[in-house]
Amino acid sequence: QAKRHGRNRAMPFREEFDASVTQRLQLITQLRDALVRGEFVLAFQPLFSPAGRAVALEALVRWQHPTRGLLMPGEFIGVCEESGLIVELGRRILREAARHHARLVEAGCGDVRLAVNVSAAQFTEELYVDVEAVVREFALPRGTLELELTESVIMDSPERAIELMQRLAALGVGFSVDDFGTGYSSLAYLKRFPIERLKIDRSFVQDLGVDDDDAAICQSIIGLAHSLDIYTVAEGVETEQQASWLRARGCDELQGYLLARPQPFEALLPLLRRGRAAAAG
Ligand code: C2E
Ligand code: MG
Ligand code: MG
Ligand code: MG
Repeated sequence: QAKRHGRNRAMPFREEFDASVTQRLQLITQLRDALVRGEFVLAFQPLFSPAGRAVALEALVRWQHPTRGLLMPGEFIGVCEESGLIVELGRRILREAARHHARLVEAGCGDVRLAVNVSAAQFTEELYVDVEAVVREFALPRGTLELELTESVIMDSPERAIELMQRLAALGVGFSVDDFGTGYSSLAYLKRFPIERLKIDRSFVQDLGVDDDDAAICQSIIGLAHSLDIYTVAEGVETEQQASWLRARGCDELQGYLLARPQPFEALLPLLRRGRAAAAG
């Protein structure tokens, strides 16, 4: 004992370690309370057609923390995933997003898709049960609900993923591959999955017009995807230069701060209605 305490050079490290473990446990407790108190809220970020019409809304979770303000997923999603809380949180997010279909119909935008992010831990039979329930409860037309999966979620156990995706697709659910290009899957392989869209990762979009390699990557993703009848979405579009480059190369949908930031549903209503009026007129 005395000897251990005598090794004072090792002490700061141990204390730091203990502190971070304690902090994580505290965070898990707070997250559980937050679920009970209903402190999680959704922001929605639109996806736009090249002509500028909002065609989908991606649900992005935020934590309205009682003292720390509005927290972004980067601050809590990882711990939710590791602790398993993501299953219950994900179920609430799915239901809350689906609930907005009726509000889109009211606004004359019933064909706008609702996209929900799904973590690896959620991608199980339970997800099927939850999706079937919300599709029925909110009478979601086919093609309304879209699930965003990353390459790693799909490639972790491909045969199981194909089977689950096919059954979900039979309920009318569409699939996007999120952050595409950052994982290790090949497009040819992905063709075996019922995937409608690839979302080109923000990191490739960022340097369009600056970095020739990223332009080449974006161009080949779009070309290959189209040859396989898969649509493409560019995420993280921040400049007019990026947007016009992507439109010129046939990218099917654009998403990013240039076009609209994630925001409360109500705040998006004028934008949704405007897009509709322009299309009609
Ligand atoms: P993601 O699904 O790839 O979402 C895109 C992220 O990029 C969002 O961050 C969005 O706010 C941000 N973004 C959008 N446009 C731009 C842009 O032009 N520039 C920049 N710099 N960023 C942009 P957010 O909301 O912080 O979410 C981060 C990640 O957390 C998401 O990445 C997703 O993986 C995860 N996440 C968010 N909501 C949920 C959820 O409801 N369930 C699950 N399982 N994961 C979620
Ligand atoms: Mg996403
Ligand atoms: Mg993404
Ligand atoms: Mg991303």
